[in-house]
Amino acid sequence: MFKRILIANRGEIAMRILRCCQEMGIETVLACSAEDMDSLPAQFATKRVCIGPPAAAKSYLNPEAVVQAAISFQCEAVHPGYGFLSENADFASLCEEHGILFIGPSSEMIRMMGDKQSARALMKKHGVPVVPGSDGILKDWKEAAEIARKVGYPVLLKATAGGGGRGMRTAYDESEIQSAYESAQAEALSAFGDGSLYLEKLILHPHHIEVQILGDSRGHIVHLGERDCSLQRRNQKLLEEAPARILKPRQREALHRAALRAAKAVHYRSAGTVEFVLDREGNFYFIEMNTRIQVEHPVTEMITGVDLIREQIRIAAGLELSCRQSDISFSGHAIECRINAENPAKGFAPCPGDISFLHFPAGKGVRVESALYNGSRVSPWYDSMIAKVIVHAPGRLEAIRKMRVALEEMTVEGIDTNLEFLYLLMFNPDYLSGHVDTGFLEKDAEAIIRWGEESRKKA
Ligand code: ADP
Repeated sequence: MFKRILIANRGEIAMRILRCCQEMGIETVLACSAEDMDSLPAQFATKRVCIGPPAAAKSYLNPEAVVQAAISFQCEAVHPGYGFLSENADFASLCEEHGILFIGPSSEMIRMMGDKQSARALMKKHGVPVVPGSDGILKDWKEAAEIARKVGYPVLLKATAGGGGRGMRTAYDESEIQSAYESAQAEALSAFGDGSLYLEKLILHPHHIEVQILGDSRGHIVHLGERDCSLQRRNQKLLEEAPARILKPRQREALHRAALRAAKAVHYRSAGTVEFVLDREGNFYFIEMNTRIQVEHPVTEMITGVDLIREQIRIAAGLELSCRQSDISFSGHAIECRINAENPAKGFAPCPGDISFLHFPAGKGVRVESALYNGSRVSPWYDSMIAKVIVHAPGRLEAIRKMRVALEEMTVEGIDTNLEFLYLLMFNPDYLSGHVDTGFLEKDAEAIIRWGEESRKKA
C-alpha cells in the first residue's frame, strides 16, 4: 500500500479522501491554493503545500504545480477528487511520465471517454443503447439540420469536449438549428478550446439515472447499483438518491447489465459512472461516462456499505477489488442534498461570505460531508457547495422524513443557502411521488419558493 498520497483538491472531497487515507494508515499531503492554506483539510492533512494563488486556473488547475508538489514531497500517488484535474488526460499522463500513480483510470481511458462523441460511438459498437443522433462530429449546421430532420425535433447539440452542462443547446424546430449550432459551438470553443459538436435527439421529460461501477487491474468489474440524479438546475445536480424509485426490477437489471457492458468494453479500471437518460416509455440511453469519483458517491456507499474512495486507492495500488458482484447487496434508501451558498430566490446566485454560526445535523443514518466549521469562510473563488447531507433509512419515505429532520436541524448563519428550499422540496407532492424529471426545477422552483414565502407569512 502507499506510504504517502498527494490530494489535489479542496473542500468536502479533500476531507473525505483525507479521512479515508488516515483510516488506511496513509500519510497525506494536501496541495492547496494560497486561499485554502488555513482550511480544515489543510489542518487535517499530514502536510500541506501551496501550489499557487487563489485563482483555480493558477493552482488547482495547474498540472505542473501539482506534479511538482507530489515529487517534492515524495508522494507515490495523487488523488484528484472530482472537478479540477480529475478528468484531465494530460494531467494523468504527466503523472504517469513522472512515475506518480494517478488514482483513477489511465490517461488513455480518460481521453477516450472525455471525447463524448467517441465514447458514444464506442458504446454503440458494443451494443449499449445510445440516444438516436449523429454518427460523428457534425461538419456544419446544415448537416445538423439534415440529421435533425431524420431523427425528429427537438434535438440537442452537444460539445464533444463538453462538461458541467456547458456547450449544449436545444433546437425545437428547423428555424432554431443554425443559432443553436452557432451558440453551442461558440460556448464550447471558449470553455474547452474545441468547438466540435454532435447531435442527439432531445429526450423529453427524462430521468437522469447513472450506474456506479468499479474495475480493478486484474479485470474484475462490478456495478454498485444506480442513482437517480434528476433533480437538477441548469444541468447541475442538487439532490441524488439511490435506488431509483422509477425503475421496475426488469429495467433495473437491464440498466445494470448495460453499464457493465460499457465498463467491460473499455476494460475499465477504478471508480466510474455510466450515465443514462430514461425516457417516459422506460427506454434508457447512454449519455456519457465519468471517469472519476462523483459528488453523489455517498448515496451508493450508504446502500451498499462499500467505501468507494478506499476501493479507488486499493485499485491504484494494484490490489484486487475487495468485493465481487455476489458480495454486493443493497439495503434501504439513501438521499443526498447538496447544501450550497446560494440564493434560490435570485436564480440560485452564489452567496459566498463569512459563516457566523454553523451547526450540522447528526443521528442514526445521517451523514454530513463538509470542510466548514464555525467561523469559517465560503470563498468566492470556488464552487458554492458547502456541505452534503446524506440520509439512509429502510425505505424512501422514511429517508425523506429523516432528511426533513436533518435539514431542519442544520443551521448556517451569516450567508444565504438553499437549505430552506431543499426543506420545502421534501414536502413537494411531485417529489414525494418520485415523478420529478430533469426539467422539474426549471419549471417548479419558483412555485416552491413562493410556497415557502406564503407559509412564512401565515406562520
Ligand atoms: P455534462 O457532461 O455537461 O454534464 P451530459 O451529457 O452529462 O453533459 O448532460 C447533462 C444533463 O443534460 C444530463 O444530466 C441530462 O439531464 C441532460 N441531457 C443530456 N443529454 C440529453 C438528451 N439527449 N436528452 C435529454 N436530456 C439530456
